[in-house]
Amino acid sequence: MEKYTRKSFLGQLQLAGAAGLASIVLPSDPHVPRPDLASTDPALTGPSSSSGKKLNIALCGLGNYAGLLADGLEASQYCRLAGIVTGHPAKATAWKAKYKLPDKNVYDYQNFDEIVHNPSIDLVYVVLPNGLHKDFTVRAAKAGKHVICEKPMATSASNCREMIKACKDAGVQLAIGYRLHFEPTHLEIKRLGQQKVFGQVRFIEASLGYQTYDGKEAATGYQAGNPAHWRLNKVLAGGGPLMDLGIYCIQSSRYVLGEEPVTVTAQFGPTRAPKLFSQVEEAISWQLTFPSGAVCNSTTSCGYDVDRFFATADEGQFELSPALSYGPFLGKSSKGPIRFPVINQQATEMDTIAKLILENKALPSHITGEEGIKDVRIIEAIYEAARTGGKVKLV
Ligand code: NAD
Repeated sequence: MEKYTRKSFLGQLQLAGAAGLASIVLPSDPHVPRPDLASTDPALTGPSSSSGKKLNIALCGLGNYAGLLADGLEASQYCRLAGIVTGHPAKATAWKAKYKLPDKNVYDYQNFDEIVHNPSIDLVYVVLPNGLHKDFTVRAAKAGKHVICEKPMATSASNCREMIKACKDAGVQLAIGYRLHFEPTHLEIKRLGQQKVFGQVRFIEASLGYQTYDGKEAATGYQAGNPAHWRLNKVLAGGGPLMDLGIYCIQSSRYVLGEEPVTVTAQFGPTRAPKLFSQVEEAISWQLTFPSGAVCNSTTSCGYDVDRFFATADEGQFELSPALSYGPFLGKSSKGPIRFPVINQQATEMDTIAKLILENKALPSHITGEEGIKDVRIIEAIYEAARTGGKVKLV
């Protein structure tokens, strides 16, 4: 999520703490963490033992989300913040001092390729505007560094293919920053859907959007007053809230169903600020159909608040709200409440990836570039469907 969600995230954390949610899993709750969730997927087990080794991570781009990742690195067990890449000398000074980073591990965007000579950096975490993900992933791979690249993986499927090839050619691993793949509430809805706990899921609603016209989020650029922000720039962002927020809706429908969509229809709007959103959409809704016949209906917007997931199956329903932001997530199903302890999503994501890399194991495909390109292909199809008004086939 973006800066404008971080405030609400921290506020919600405080609320959750006050309500005791952070530490409670109700004993009578049918939705308790299940060992079988992780039994076939080592990445879902998270950190479990310590060899004392840590993966050295350099954050590339020191914006809002990099701040959360730095907090996650401080809380992590298998990785550490070892370096930074930034275009701002003042940020370099501040981060060096705060995290006690040596000068030799500090790069700017021009001298970044010199990182090839630096054995104290194992992995580069690309947290730049979407339109820069491809170039910096390819440059990091060519320097022999593993890469975690933020979502969306890139602004086109062809860029994703270049990134996958560059990492493969260099023999490094490529992960996408899908933090919800490690979050227990989301592992639970994945289990409920894929294991057909309530039978076949027939219909999903998954939506995420934020009202950005109320002045509370002035720095994000979505709000009128900062038209130069990269998120409003087609080249740097690739698109509007679909790229930024809608991707979580696409992801959740795919991992709850365990299927890939076959057709897409979509509609732009409503648009309240056409001048501000002249290059990227302000809002978009879409419908995905899946091979089982299941349908997912979604919307994302910068003009209204929505953060919800709902699935109905042959023998019951399950839903979350908040669902797709930073959480804490709250849900219920036909069997009762869905509540899990609040985790540090960024620390868990990076620890799980770092542990597998330290053990020289391949990352599971649902968090790699192969997963990232699936979402980007669907995003491209949604835009095409909205532009043409037609039904776009994905297979
Ligand atoms: P941000 O605007 O806060 O930070 C972007 C950083 O990129 C800034 O430090 C900026 O200086 C730097 N930058 C370098 N070249 C730039 C250029 N040409 N134009 C503009 N900025 C440039 O953005 P953010 O919210 O930190 O998002 C960064 C990436 O992280 C995006 O891809 C976004 O989708 C992703 N993200 C992911 C999550 C998540 O929950 N996984 C949350 C927020 C953002």
